[in-house]
Amino acid sequence: MLNHKATYTELIKSEAKRLGFLSCGISKAEFLEAEAPRLEAWLQKHMNGEMHYMENHFDKRLDPTLLVEGSKSVVSLLLNYYPSELQTEDSYKLSKYAYGNDYHHVIKHKLKSLLYFIQDEIGEVGGRAFVDSAPVLDKAWAAKSGLGWIGKHSNLLTQQVGSFYFIAELIIDLELEYDHITTDHCGTCTKCIDACPTEAITEPYVVDGSKCISYFTIELKENLPTEFKGKFDDWMFGCDVCQDVCPWNKFSKPHNEPLFNPHPEVLDMTKKDWEEITEDTFKEVFQKSAVKRTKFSGLERNIRFLKS
Ligand code: SF4
Ligand code: SF4
Repeated sequence: MLNHKATYTELIKSEAKRLGFLSCGISKAEFLEAEAPRLEAWLQKHMNGEMHYMENHFDKRLDPTLLVEGSKSVVSLLLNYYPSELQTEDSYKLSKYAYGNDYHHVIKHKLKSLLYFIQDEIGEVGGRAFVDSAPVLDKAWAAKSGLGWIGKHSNLLTQQVGSFYFIAELIIDLELEYDHITTDHCGTCTKCIDACPTEAITEPYVVDGSKCISYFTIELKENLPTEFKGKFDDWMFGCDVCQDVCPWNKFSKPHNEPLFNPHPEVLDMTKKDWEEITEDTFKEVFQKSAVKRTKFSGLERNIRFLKS
């Protein structure tokens, strides 16, 4: 008898490759039992800071069948964003994921193409696409689907390509063949913990989000806390330190997504240029970028904090 599940799984994975995803792994849509106590403890310790949206939809975050009715499978996908060129040395730093066009748009487009492909090739399949969306624990799903392990810095990483990629999901009502979790290769390494400028990695595998530079520079709407002055290591939007020091990231290869190529100014601007940036330049340089999330006033606030 023809194994439809295997055929469909193969079809979806090869189309994901064709669309430019780095890899694709699939899990059964079910309650994330191992994650539940971890998430609860993390929230109880207020490690989400002012990111109160993380407290919402607790049950839905752990159970995709509550999020998408009738769902059977979580299809996790990775999209590489590692740039071929970095910012000039004498610059305030932007997280590498924010160099090019806003990943939400780029990935949503690819996810929709994948969903349409599934519907065209397989038939009536219902589902929803998620990119960095609060109700889905994307790292946990990607790990469960065998795409990598969650490192001591709490990012997903792989032996083949490190950790500089986006994670996205399709949650669909089609049964597929499921992948298995991989092994952890952090071993005795503690490089990310030792290098974190704000000591936000409080113990292996636990990041206190409320102490993380990414949180301060992007999520926090209030004034930046003075006790962290001088500790931001020149990061003005996001922070890549724990990933940059990770030995597995020496295997990162540049992406081939033209939409992730930066505006030339992003690479060339010096600290002085950033300090003098006008709202018009900000709008031009970051017209299509995720940096718009901080608005001009947010980026200015961050730069002032670094400068003072
Ligand atoms: S992103 Fe930066 S501040 Fe946050 S945990 Fe990693 S090294 Fe620490
Ligand atoms: S730096 Fe070391 S401990 Fe941290 S994630 Fe990478 S391998 Fe794991």
